[in-house]
Amino acid sequence: MWIYLSRPDITEKEIEAVCAVLRSPNLSLGPKLVEFEHAFADYIGIKRAVAVNSGTSGLFLCMLALGIGRGDEVITTPFTFIASATSIMMAGAKPVFVDIDPATLNIDPAKIEPGITGGTKAILPVEVFGSPAGLDNVCEIAQKHNLAVIEDACEALGSALNGKKVGTFGRMSVFAFYPNKQITTGEGGMILTDDDDLADMCVSLRNQGRGPHRFASQKRSSGGNWLSHERLGYNFRLSDINCALGIVQLSRIEQFKAKRRQVAKWYQEMLADDDRLILPAGPHGCDMSWFVFVLRLADSFTRRQRDSVLEAMRSRNIQVADYFTPVHLQPFMVEQFGYKRGDFPVTESVCERTIALPFYNNLTEDETAVVCRTLKEILDKN
Ligand SMILES: *Cc1c(COP(=O)(O)O)cnc(C)c1O
Repeated sequence: MWIYLSRPDITEKEIEAVCAVLRSPNLSLGPKLVEFEHAFADYIGIKRAVAVNSGTSGLFLCMLALGIGRGDEVITTPFTFIASATSIMMAGAKPVFVDIDPATLNIDPAKIEPGITGGTKAILPVEVFGSPAGLDNVCEIAQKHNLAVIEDACEALGSALNGKKVGTFGRMSVFAFYPNKQITTGEGGMILTDDDDLADMCVSLRNQGRGPHRFASQKRSSGGNWLSHERLGYNFRLSDINCALGIVQLSRIEQFKAKRRQVAKWYQEMLADDDRLILPAGPHGCDMSWFVFVLRLADSFTRRQRDSVLEAMRSRNIQVADYFTPVHLQPFMVEQFGYKRGDFPVTESVCERTIALPFYNNLTEDETAVVCRTLKEILDKN
């Protein structure tokens, strides 16, 4: 029996909601799209929400809507999922990395200003593993330099900093719904903004460059306009099947947050007394919606020792992961931009010693105990 790294939490309610769409004639651009977008905008407290088929397409559309392209630079973190950087590159712009704060694992606000040049158009901070720590400082710097903030909030649905929800800090922000995220639609993403023009542009770009129609029902009334395309666009639509799943999942978000907080608490209690481990900092005066539980081996451990711990955990049927590989050291990034080991030392040093433990809503106390006991036994043998 494996203990998995991640599992979605799907009940009969989700299954029924999906089946109801399948029994209807509206599989795409139907009422569930509108309902999901409105529910999501309401939950975050933002004027407009635009659903797309992935978090990556959402980030890419933010670049296009903000007019970011060739010759432009966007500042982001090398300690993130690859899409934070590739969405910038897809638009033709250059990701400029700034190292992280070792305490929060988010972009280090103190290191941002030296990275700003005449070509900088935006800052793309990531709430890594769900933590919004430092986001307010990033926004202050952006405001001072008149730069847009595009929040990659893909890991932080439900988090808040000083009472302000993640997703409300940036000019635009993006959430994602892959099955390992806090809520899932199978695949999917959501762009949020208070700016109607930016939202309308995203609505058009996700739908082959057709004129924006804020409500899906206008598709039918607009009739002949269906084959009229105002600009180069894409097919990044999210089907009503996915949206129906998302509506039910979003309605359960407080329950999900509580379940995940409990699992994190078990891990923290069971591992607290082990000085070979650096546990995730958890909330720094913020309401943390846990995405994953990633700890680090103490500084004295090498990358090879960490890798052998990962291997030993897997041989004991426990799924673990090494979130993340530094983005700047991915082979195609090295080839294109010439980055090398040593460029972002904090990120590199953290990446060498991370271990993501199994983490999902319905992980039991017994299972977390097995994970902790196994990890300690493996470290004892090391
Ligand atoms: C999940 C995630 C995304 C988007 O992923 P998709 O698979 O395209 O939905 C973007 N950025 C970060 C940091 C993520 O964790």
